[in-house]
Amino acid sequence: MKIHEIGEFGFIDRISGMFRHLLLPDFLGIGDDCAIIPYNEKEDYVITTDLLIEDIHFLKHRITPGQLGYKSLAVNLSDIAAMGAEPVGSFLSIGIPAETEVEYLDALMEGYHKLSQKYKVPLLGGDTTKSKKYLTINVGIVGKCRRGKALLRSMAQSGDIVCVTGFLGDSAGGLEVLLNNLPETKDNLQLILSHHLPEPHVKEGLWLAKQSGVHAMMDVSDGISSDLMHILKASGKSAVVELDKIPVSDTLRKVTVAKGWDLDKLVTCGGEDYVLLCTVEAGSLASIKAGFKTVFSRDLIQIGRIIEGESRINWMKNSQQVVLNKHGFDHFSV
Ligand code: ADP
Ligand code: MG
Repeated sequence: MKIHEIGEFGFIDRISGMFRHLLLPDFLGIGDDCAIIPYNEKEDYVITTDLLIEDIHFLKHRITPGQLGYKSLAVNLSDIAAMGAEPVGSFLSIGIPAETEVEYLDALMEGYHKLSQKYKVPLLGGDTTKSKKYLTINVGIVGKCRRGKALLRSMAQSGDIVCVTGFLGDSAGGLEVLLNNLPETKDNLQLILSHHLPEPHVKEGLWLAKQSGVHAMMDVSDGISSDLMHILKASGKSAVVELDKIPVSDTLRKVTVAKGWDLDKLVTCGGEDYVLLCTVEAGSLASIKAGFKTVFSRDLIQIGRIIEGESRINWMKNSQQVVLNKHGFDHFSV
């Protein structure tokens, strides 16, 4: 059997059960945005790692080294944010082709440092090795949160409202611009920037975790059609999502119309937006939305609701049920 027959998540499913019996009490292993290790009576550590490989996750001739360094840390900070945790420190392992310019690496580290500085997260260690061909970057990150208070994918409850903390689809739009070599107009450049310099919603995650009405949370890295399914599977629930309510930037809307792109596909299956996806108790929604607006000067946007039933997303458009036949990004699927 080839890996593309089971896909990234098929592989993860095959291995996740093997190690469960080794977990100590209150540990959380494979399956969420971060693992959890209890630290003391008051705090837990949350830990995650993400791999970026040249030509798979980034096009070296299109992303600047500074942006690449920034993004390598940003995607990890986003997983810390998804637990409602605060970042503590990072590790950087890097496989470097021999002909790489030192100035390129300096610029990469400058980008990494810039984001580290912003969230006060020191680089604590890592590993450096030669790579035969492709630049390969692995970042590991540690965060902390109040003991037992991390927001898990498994915490969605029936009747919860599904919300997101920002626009969806911009990053996928940027990738379309890059892959199709579209001209660097102001709008196109803005979409490329969303793809190359995602802003992790760390402060939003910390704030949401303090609100008792927020139940499940994760970050949107693969597209909500795939990511919301992770929440549904982990929580044993179903969902209804209204495509018309998904927040889309004016820029993406404009470029989509001009280029004849499929907007629904971009906002549901496009990945790498790194906004947060959470489920909120219906009774607390109004006050949480009001609080979010006060603190962040923008809306927490409701896009659907959690219902009882088998783990699937029922997509609605103009109050009619519609079928989406493409799924979010999955490595190895063809
Ligand atoms: P995310 O997009 O939030 O980084 P992923 O979808 O990549 O999460 O991974 C889902 C879960 O599977 C996470 O808990 C992750 O740690 C785990 N995982 C992925 N690949 C491996 C692996 N090779 N070994 C162990 N755990 C893995
Ligand atoms: Mg994640």
